Amino acid sequence: MVFLCALCGEKPLFSCAILSLMAQTPEKTFYIETFGCQMNVHDSEKVIGTLLAQGYRQVESVQEAGLILYNTCSIRDKAEQKVFHRLADFKKMAEQGKKFGVLGCVAQQEGEKIFERAPHVSMVCGSASYRNLPEMLVRIEAGKQRVTGLDDRETDECFETEFTSRSNPYRGYITIIEGCDKFCAFCVVPYTRGKERSRTSASVLEETRRMADAGYTEIQLLGQNVNSYRDPSGRKSFAELLAAVGEVAGIRRVRFTTSHPRDFGRDIVQAIEAVPALCDQVHLPVQSGSTRVLGLMQRLYTREQYLERIAWMKAARRPISISTDIIVGFPGENQEDFQQTLSLLDEVGYDSVFSFKYSPRPNTPALKFIDHIPDQEKSRRLTVLQERQKQIQSGRNQKQVGEVLEVMVEGRNPARAQWIGRTSQNKVLNFTAGGGDELAAGNYVKVRVTQAFPNSLVGELAADGGQQGVSHFLNSQSQEIAF
Ligand code: SAM
Ligand code: SF4
Repeated sequence: MVFLCALCGEKPLFSCAILSLMAQTPEKTFYIETFGCQMNVHDSEKVIGTLLAQGYRQVESVQEAGLILYNTCSIRDKAEQKVFHRLADFKKMAEQGKKFGVLGCVAQQEGEKIFERAPHVSMVCGSASYRNLPEMLVRIEAGKQRVTGLDDRETDECFETEFTSRSNPYRGYITIIEGCDKFCAFCVVPYTRGKERSRTSASVLEETRRMADAGYTEIQLLGQNVNSYRDPSGRKSFAELLAAVGEVAGIRRVRFTTSHPRDFGRDIVQAIEAVPALCDQVHLPVQSGSTRVLGLMQRLYTREQYLERIAWMKAARRPISISTDIIVGFPGENQEDFQQTLSLLDEVGYDSVFSFKYSPRPNTPALKFIDHIPDQEKSRRLTVLQERQKQIQSGRNQKQVGEVLEVMVEGRNPARAQWIGRTSQNKVLNFTAGGGDELAAGNYVKVRVTQAFPNSLVGELAADGGQQGVSHFLNSQSQEIAF
């Protein structure tokens, strides 16, 4: 009997052209480093999936890779500089035939100028052009020296792909809206990520169902402003989409970030009250506690309007934990404005705050304002704010001592002999569990809080936590993860 090649029908080892071509073609490998926010992390998951589908293999170091990609962030100057440092560090490797690509916000912002500053870069691609990556990769493979994807900021299309490569098997991101049309005076996002565009609710729900079938139990909906979501099919508001995602069978937790105060409706709080799977958590960036500064920032709301939204959440039947972003030292912010930001911290009682010194960004309206606040004074305000918030968080966490909370197990800290859990309110709760041999990442268990710190809680597995809480519907993939 003669065996024929399944690819070409010829006798193998003698005349199969396809096999011999495959043997000659060097393996395509890539390394990717991601800077910045969750949007960038998830964009990279989609870029990785796209490359894998194109026949590339992901490797863990620049040394092993043929193609080196940096998915960049330009929200603040420091973030932007990181990529140029990396490109300088590995410049010599271009002589070995390695190709370099810059993706994301710095790529969109700096465009072809990157080729001048780092001539060893072959590809520059903004996030609005990721759909074109397969075709751009083919051009690079064919030896093209400079390939760009920079012209899609006006697109109505989102980057949807079935090839997303998620590394966490039980908690996953889903982008529901891309870009931003708000044009806050300090922010580069509308210039780097392009105009606001939403996915259809049907497509978001389809992806949720696929993830639930694959064993995911926690979904995090992503967008620069998720609550500015406009279903292109006109079927669902953001709150309705949120509720529908939370009702997909198998989904146990749903988070969403970031929400813009201007578009934050009461219906979002009502959805959280009505749908158990929606987490007790809202991230609502305020940026400043002074209405005057909010006006200069072009944030489209006042301190009072912001506080009204906080009041809706505080009146909810569930204990919603609230976090925010704050910028200190925005041009024109005086001591009185800063005091108002501090008093807002006291009034709201945030569970966490991400705070930043104002960083002037290219193309933004605030560049025209006189940035008269010395860097030393910005640093001082940042320290004062962070100290105040630390005390607030300590106090709030202390009140939770004695509570029994459900956590999703994220892993184990062997040095401390503790499991690492996350509560519905998005707080880290490290806990002991006796032997705890039956626990694994992705499980849900009940934990009694015994101690509180400003940034985390400590506890022990509740008496019934191991039996009742351990999720019985997780698939084997989630159960098998060992730390
Ligand atoms: N869309 C969200 C909103 O409107 O609140 C914010 C998204 S932005 C990517 C994340 C955070 O970065 C902002 O909330 C802001 O606090 C901070 N940020 C943006 N531009 C900044 C700048 N020029 N300087 C300092 N921080 C900045
Ligand atoms: Fe930037 Fe403002 Fe858009 Fe948020 S809403 S991404 S801060 S422009």
